[in-house]
Amino acid sequence: MSLEELKKEFLKIGEKPYRGLQLYNYMHKNMNSDVLNINSFSKELRDKLNRDYYISDLKILERFDSKLDGTKKYLFLLEDNNIIEGVAMKYKYGYSACISTQVGCRMGCSFCASTKEGIIRNITPGEMLSEIYNIQRNLGIRLSNIVLMGSGEPLDNYLNVMKMLRILNDKNGQNFSFRNVTISTCGIVHKIYQLADEEIPVTLSVSLHFPFNELRSKIMPINNKYHIEEIIKACKYYVNRTNRRVTFEYTLIEGLNDGRECLDELKRILNGLLCHVNIIPLNPIKEFKYKKPEMDAVKIFVKELNKNGIPATVRRQMGADIDAACGQLRRSYMNEKGLL
Ligand code: SF4
Repeated sequence: MSLEELKKEFLKIGEKPYRGLQLYNYMHKNMNSDVLNINSFSKELRDKLNRDYYISDLKILERFDSKLDGTKKYLFLLEDNNIIEGVAMKYKYGYSACISTQVGCRMGCSFCASTKEGIIRNITPGEMLSEIYNIQRNLGIRLSNIVLMGSGEPLDNYLNVMKMLRILNDKNGQNFSFRNVTISTCGIVHKIYQLADEEIPVTLSVSLHFPFNELRSKIMPINNKYHIEEIIKACKYYVNRTNRRVTFEYTLIEGLNDGRECLDELKRILNGLLCHVNIIPLNPIKEFKYKKPEMDAVKIFVKELNKNGIPATVRRQMGADIDAACGQLRRSYMNEKGLL
């Protein structure tokens, strides 16, 4: 519930609305979820809340620590026994967390482990917040950045994601700046327009990966609905409305999208757009038969983009020793337990 909804709920049960604010602080500022421990409430009220309501919380099923770079990968158990993933990555400026927005995903990108069983369900705002709070509590830190790039397509769970972000941003809760949030999308164009009009200055990150429609449609089915030209047009609208630069994710795959033709087309379509390109050398999964390119080829690709006025960097691979690519850990865990 938003703060307003919570205050109304307290009125409905014959309590003063400020009790709603107290509970909201307890949940979202202090990140607690057990109503029986709210000392400022009477025993009667605590019992009533405990009997008639619940605070969504998930459990850390397992945490895997990378020995290479301090990345922590989490498997979270939801209350209906579904399992999702989250990752915390340590950078110079602090921790960044990547969280899931859906159990599974229906977008069907061939290179992604999260979509292999399709979508199971959307993750609620409370569960998304609980992913964040659990990571912060578990590591004893405050996150610097939050990235909606775990399993699921955030714009396919639009209303829940918006509600979660507004609660996260609320000064009575975490007071987390929208500017430190990144929303990733595979290119659901009508939702990009909607997001641009929300007046929340989050970073939009588009998983582009291929500059030609024919190729992109083969690997990312969403491209059959929304072509690259429409995505770029929506991104221009996003930049105009928010004044924020758009990030493009481009997974470099040997022999598929790392050649001169793709490079030239990428330069052409991004020309003049306020953007940044993240080049990600492919993190292979066994269901997708392609390989990552040699590091020299990656560097040349990046250099060429920069030379042409398109800022590009190589995304450092984090947690390579712990199946940190999207959906991999959950699948290997569920396979091991005979759940798939
Ligand atoms: S890459 Fe993202 S949008 Fe595509 S299937 Fe995986 S989770 Fe879904």
